[in-house]
Amino acid sequence: MQVRGHQWPGEEDIHRAVSQLAKRLPPVLEPLASLAYNYLWSWLPDGPELFRDVDPLRFIAAQENPVRLLQEVTPLQLERCAADPAFVDRVQQVASAFQAAMNRPWDPALLPTSPIAFFCAEFGVHKSMPIYSGGLGILAGDIVKEASDMGIPMVGIGLMYRLGYFHQRLDTGGWQHEFWVDTDPDRLPAALVTNGSGKAIKIEVPVWDTTVTAHIWRVDIGRVPLYLLDTHLEENSPIQRWITARLYEGNHDIRLGQYAMMGIGGIRALRRLGLEPSTIHLNEGHAALAAFEKAFQHTENGDPVWKALQKVKQTIVFTTHTPVAAGNETYGTQQFLTAFRNIPERLGIDPEQFLGQARIHPMDTTQHPGMTPLAIRLARSINGVSRRHGDVARHMWQPMYNTKTAAEVPISYVTNGVHLPSWMGKPFRDLLNRYLPEGWVTRAADPATWEPIDDIPAAELWAARVASRRSLIDMVRERSATDRLRRGEDLDYVQAAFRALDPNTLTVGFARRLAAYKRLHLLIHSPGRALALLEDPHPLQLLFAGKAHPMDDGGKRIVQAMFSLKPSPRVRERVAFLEDYDAGLGAALVSGCDVWINLPRPPLEASGTSGMKVVLNGGLNLSVLDGWWAEAYNGRNGWAVSGDVDHDTTAQDTRHAEEFYELMESVVVPLFYSRNEHGIPVLWVERIRASLKSLAPQFVASRMLRDYRDDIYTQNARNSGETP
Ligand SMILES: *Cc1c(COP(=O)(O)O)cnc(C)c1O
Repeated sequence: MQVRGHQWPGEEDIHRAVSQLAKRLPPVLEPLASLAYNYLWSWLPDGPELFRDVDPLRFIAAQENPVRLLQEVTPLQLERCAADPAFVDRVQQVASAFQAAMNRPWDPALLPTSPIAFFCAEFGVHKSMPIYSGGLGILAGDIVKEASDMGIPMVGIGLMYRLGYFHQRLDTGGWQHEFWVDTDPDRLPAALVTNGSGKAIKIEVPVWDTTVTAHIWRVDIGRVPLYLLDTHLEENSPIQRWITARLYEGNHDIRLGQYAMMGIGGIRALRRLGLEPSTIHLNEGHAALAAFEKAFQHTENGDPVWKALQKVKQTIVFTTHTPVAAGNETYGTQQFLTAFRNIPERLGIDPEQFLGQARIHPMDTTQHPGMTPLAIRLARSINGVSRRHGDVARHMWQPMYNTKTAAEVPISYVTNGVHLPSWMGKPFRDLLNRYLPEGWVTRAADPATWEPIDDIPAAELWAARVASRRSLIDMVRERSATDRLRRGEDLDYVQAAFRALDPNTLTVGFARRLAAYKRLHLLIHSPGRALALLEDPHPLQLLFAGKAHPMDDGGKRIVQAMFSLKPSPRVRERVAFLEDYDAGLGAALVSGCDVWINLPRPPLEASGTSGMKVVLNGGLNLSVLDGWWAEAYNGRNGWAVSGDVDHDTTAQDTRHAEEFYELMESVVVPLFYSRNEHGIPVLWVERIRASLKSLAPQFVASRMLRDYRDDIYTQNARNSGETP
């Protein structure tokens, strides 16, 4: 039996918002209103271009948010679009692709009446929805998009941060400054969920010694609704409102308030909406209190607390992303109890017992409580996000288990993957449409799908690469000139970016969080060798981007050190730091760069996903053998720097920097510039083929979701109803 269609709670609220917006539009453009209220447009062919062409400058000004675009575009401009038959035809095309995608059957193994509830502190769906900071959020976004494509019934649970994550500006010395922008949810593709009589639904959540009220927003990601809790209500105090102000709030008391809101509030929201998930997927441990809230529902029905927790455990799965102990934050005992005091009270357990669940060793009262031990104890399935990370996690958490060896610790792994339609740029999408079999996107996780890559003439593959690089360089020229002007640089320096960045030069990208372990500093470990790589006749140009956490001065100093090389003319011309790294800039970089560099200190990279996006655009990875690359590299599909672990980090840095320069100087640069009589780097193109064929099927999100479905979610469906 095939089940199609499904209405999630809040459907009418979305409809109401759509009709409101449609009133502004000429009748032939009305389908744009429903498209605007579902992020599916962002990964349908021609979807982004369609909204852009309504009014290109305004689209950029609106952060590519189509709801804001349609709210603000002038009636005259709308009339112009409506009078253009080609444009109206495109509206029809995208609208019917939208309908087709929404009406595909659900996966028969998992029905929408008992969806997966996916809890995450951040969701990186699109640059216009600023409730994400980086890798974790983008992964969550890719998971919900792929769940929609594959018909895996899922609902997302998170917070509607009014100020989101910070924006970044640098000064002329390369020092990072942060600022936050207020987001008005009424301008986002979001609808407040109301009850039958038009009043916003409220849930109440105990935090500290208070009760915090929250509204629920619904944001549609294809067939997956995100339910986002929002405490920005008049009846809440300023402190209570601040709970959903900023992502990764620095104040730890507020941070714990966020975790209570996500975990307790998330379960209450599901219940209030009448949703009964088959599985609760905790993506990182932030929402681990969800388990206690669920258990509370059982104790209300008379179960003793430990039995209730056992029952709940059958429905909870946990994905850990953090390979460093320090990344798993802990809190002061009193702080933890103050924030969550109602949990032991309501469950009728001793506060000390509750604290014990949040420690590695429950009885060791000197240990600080944290969310990760809680999540580990309360989940029936735990996984890391790459093969190597699975191993690291088993070692890291072995103290919580009574096993003789780390290998016996029951933590598995599902290697991350990326949502192909979101991250493959147009040149490669068009090229592969011509050579891969019909319907290839839905069969991207099958290696056989990619075999015809060998039939693509080298000239065509290269042309797609050149087109991808060219559109990146066009964008970077504009953007780095603006960045430099804003910083107050002299005009000569501003123009250097315009003059010298070149669409035919080997383009190397390094964009990631500016945390010390990402080792951006290895690039300039030997400044002389680094500068030599920028020299004619075979130069490279380096584009880099990334944000340091506001309180991480060490991270900020790394960029400052790069800026100290600014006086060199080659650096002014061939190195650009692009401010305010986000999903939009990320997409441009991963599609345009020829080589993507990743030099984390092993084994601290849990997975990494940006390199997978590069693969889909014919770029090549040069990376430390850590995270995903440790299971991806095969000697022909990119380049590798050793992944050895060494406690002498200075010696390790020197060795890895040496390997990096050696590869760049003797292998990468010569290969890129060695051309046949038609100007094509034939051996480079061979590497692109090897990279696409060996890596694309393994690291797309459809492979990842298949693993979650087969190895984790449906294991649960089989068990549900059983009492252990
Ligand atoms: C893909 C992506 C990431 C993840 O990058 P890694 O450094 O590989 O973990 C982070 N931020 C953005 C904007 C991305 O698109």
